[in-house]
Amino acid sequence: LEQIDTEIASLKKRYEEILPANIKKFSDFPLSQRTLGGLTNSKYTVPTDIQRESIGLALKGHDVLASAKTGSGKTLAFIIPILECLYCQKWSSIDGLGALVISPTRELAYQTFAVLRRVGKQHDFSAGLVVGGMDLKVESKKINYTNIIICTPGRFLQHMDETRNFTATNLQILVLDEADRILDLGFSETMNAIIENLPPSRQTLLFSATQTRSVKDLARLSLNNDNLFYVSVDE
Ligand code: ADP
Ligand code: MG
Repeated sequence: LEQIDTEIASLKKRYEEILPANIKKFSDFPLSQRTLGGLTNSKYTVPTDIQRESIGLALKGHDVLASAKTGSGKTLAFIIPILECLYCQKWSSIDGLGALVISPTRELAYQTFAVLRRVGKQHDFSAGLVVGGMDLKVESKKINYTNIIICTPGRFLQHMDETRNFTATNLQILVLDEADRILDLGFSETMNAIIENLPPSRQTLLFSATQTRSVKDLARLSLNNDNLFYVSVDE
């Protein structure tokens, strides 16, 4: 345990020195051995542009509004900060929900969950998929002990409304993935209802392939303007 405390302290000390221009490999980021091991085993060595630009900001605790086209590697740009955020706080099952990723569709949620499983394999966190089509009762029993949830909006709101004792009060980090698609699918009001019920002290990362008017509205509602950075790698 002492070894973990030493590792965490030395990682955090390096956060302020992160400069995207100096990042050539994932191992140039101050990342835990567990995360670096998961990346290596998944054959990820060189970060993509969006990962190089946004991971450091997220590690430092900033809110990030990131836009980059489909296929640019946005998933790891939030999976890595989630793992590090919880690891550095020595998050465990009794701490409950620490990170929430909202995806537009079941299929995307599955894909993101698969990446989390692979890259996070050496960590001890519990993770769950909360999407339509699963057994609501089974989910309800486990949901309070799940550290990282990947969900679709409707199903997550259903738990907020209907699952007794469900609470997100400890939430550290919220990710809105493919925000433009979430809104295209008509989830604007569902998103507002979810965000209203999350603790305002959290960190928020919003990823989108495009910057539409409605994405900007969602950003205004969900991100903390005083601590916000924009990352766009297309322009
Ligand atoms: P986006 O969400 O921006 O559409 P994804 O996160 O789904 O992109 O990634 C697209 C593809 O690129 C995936 O197959 C993923 O495994 C791959 N990929 C992501 N990051 C890297 C990387 N650093 N090195 C190599 N391949 C990567
Ligand atoms: Mg994506």
